[in-house]
Amino acid sequence: MSKLTDINYIKGVLSRHGFTFSKALGQNFLVNPTVCPKMSEMCGADENTGVIEIGPGAGVLTNELAQRSYKVVAVELDKRLLPVLAETLSEHRNVTVINDDAMKLDFHKLIREEFPDSEVVICANLPYYITSPILMRLLEERLPVKAITVMVQKEAADRICALPGTRASGAISAAVHYYCEPEMLFRVSPGSFIPAPKVESAVIRLNILKEPPITAADEKLFFKEKLFFKVVRASFLQRRKTLSNSLSAGLSKPKAEINEALAKAGIPANARAEEMTMQQFADITAALYCGI
Ligand code: SAM
Repeated sequence: MSKLTDINYIKGVLSRHGFTFSKALGQNFLVNPTVCPKMSEMCGADENTGVIEIGPGAGVLTNELAQRSYKVVAVELDKRLLPVLAETLSEHRNVTVINDDAMKLDFHKLIREEFPDSEVVICANLPYYITSPILMRLLEERLPVKAITVMVQKEAADRICALPGTRASGAISAAVHYYCEPEMLFRVSPGSFIPAPKVESAVIRLNILKEPPITAADEKLFFKEKLFFKVVRASFLQRRKTLSNSLSAGLSKPKAEINEALAKAGIPANARAEEMTMQQFADITAALYCGI
């Protein structure tokens, strides 16, 4: 068992460095000894696969990843954790810690420079305040990675994994299913962290797809200008309203124009966003913006 999950040991290291937890940075550190070995095994890290970790904290997951992978690059925003990580990861020669913001870092460059010849996976216990933006950033950048395994709040995990067209789905479900096949791996209780969060967490793996699951009428309009995602977001803006009303409000277009597009796409005007499949969202986008 790693000493990094021994609460007394880790509290001792943190207090010696004068570290106090920042709620704003989503700092809840794992102390359940079973979680990190499972996460590092399930994320696909091995002797041929490099790992990028976001938010190593005190290094508990990093330590497990370093034992499985030939190389780990960990991106930590909080400078105060650098001396802590230097101490807790001192026995690993295959870990590089970068002090940067994962919302701004150039991941393409990082992969080119740090992992020129190997496959890469991303693994992280994500700071909850940026779950959706960071996942969307990692996916939209189409990074050359095999999978993204992350711990997020259980409710967010449910939404992310929900199949578009089902009740639990939301804008993020459609965006995520466009790039990958999400998989729920296991749940993690609040008592697994210091300090303990209020809600349950879950670990999910996003297996990156080589080809999008839908046919796009116009690649440029769909992806460069992100119209597909604009339509999806507008559709879910007012969940309880009809698709026709949500789209009209969310895209600032007259209802007549929206209803005409929905008719072209073969979708009843009183349908709701949660009933739409990926292909139906693609058809609405095409009808609205590509004149198809
Ligand atoms: N991996 C550690 C663990 O499991 O115990 C810590 C996880 S904690 C939930 C999230 C970590 O992400 C913290 O160390 C926090 O400082 C870091 N963090 C927060 N925002 C970040 C950002 N924008 N870029 C990189 N790291 C960030």
